[in-house]
Amino acid sequence: MAEDSRGDPACGGMDGRQDPVPSSGGFNFPEYELPELNTHAFHVAAFGELWRGRLRGEGDLSLKEPPADREVTDSGCEDAAAARDLGCSLETAAELRAVCGLDKLRCLEEGEDPEVIPENTDLVTLGIRKRLLKHREETLRIDRACRQETFAYEMESHAVGKKPENSADMIEEGELILSHKEHKPYQTMLVLGSQKLTELRDSICCVSDLQIGGEFSNTPDQAPENISKDLYKSAFFYFEGTFYNDKRYPECRDLSRTIIEWSESHDRGYGKFQTAKMEDFTFNDLYIKVGFPYLYCHQGDCEHVVVITDIRLVHHDDCLDKTLYPLLIKKHWLWTRKCFVCKMFTARWVTNNDSFAPQDPCFFCDVCFRMLHYDAEGNKLGEFLAYPYVDPGTFN
Ligand SMILES: [Zn+2]
Ligand SMILES: [Zn+2]
Repeated sequence: MAEDSRGDPACGGMDGRQDPVPSSGGFNFPEYELPELNTHAFHVAAFGELWRGRLRGEGDLSLKEPPADREVTDSGCEDAAAARDLGCSLETAAELRAVCGLDKLRCLEEGEDPEVIPENTDLVTLGIRKRLLKHREETLRIDRACRQETFAYEMESHAVGKKPENSADMIEEGELILSHKEHKPYQTMLVLGSQKLTELRDSICCVSDLQIGGEFSNTPDQAPENISKDLYKSAFFYFEGTFYNDKRYPECRDLSRTIIEWSESHDRGYGKFQTAKMEDFTFNDLYIKVGFPYLYCHQGDCEHVVVITDIRLVHHDDCLDKTLYPLLIKKHWLWTRKCFVCKMFTARWVTNNDSFAPQDPCFFCDVCFRMLHYDAEGNKLGEFLAYPYVDPGTFN
């Protein structure tokens, strides 16, 4: 399915083909409309129920660390366990241990530094790494590809296996995790089945929430501190014929109304749309198609395509602290826009029709902007329009 669906089939991942379930079995497994695109609509909680019904309660759903039987030092006992697990003879199990046991993966001697690459290594990958490190030392170049990789890796792994400090924050066994992928900005989040749609809405960070409206060339000191998110609280998700509007605050407007009125004004063939309150629904309550592009809209007209790419049961290796969800695990690398003058600091202002600027629009950091456009007393020089600018690369 999507590049980032990584559900473990044994834990209810949906990204592999489903088990061939006899059609007479009465199971309501999601069926693929087109295998590469999306499933039919199905009820999220009912799907979780099916998995929980099929798996053995304590064992399969447990979020405790698995017993450390892998570290049994008694090799005879270990062989017996392996023979049982693999359905092979004791002899074969012993041979397997001799050929591919854990100790065979070790390449360092006691006390050796893993950062030091030995002179005469015959491992090709280590050779390449050695050359790369040497090259980096000689050129002092910033290795962007490497930085991006590190960034992506840290993003994905920062919460792996994390346990909550307070046991009340522990995720319950059998909880569902939905992978939620969003375009513009490109990011992937994990959200729990029991979480409300509003929890995801609050965690979606979009630069248009941070934009400050208005032109401030005459009064740059009065550019407001409050950001659009506080001013315009309306937003909706659209899933399967229903608009889920954020109605938590009295000033929230029903952004979906114009769309519904438009669709109903003529028979446009869209059928009847429903509306609901975003804060009244959890992801378990939804009927959705995995892989299908849905919509999140806020700030009146800032639209994001959202796709649920995977639904699976929680696993003991997951982040188990529910307060950390929705959990951002992937984010597109964004370049920060630098000040045109100093080429060093991130832009805070953007100007139009600027008599001092070689391009339109032109971006400035706060210091250069003021130095170039105002005299020592703070009087505006020349002609220009100035707007506060929030760089998409400066926030997470
Ligand atoms: Zn947006
Ligand atoms: Zn500058």
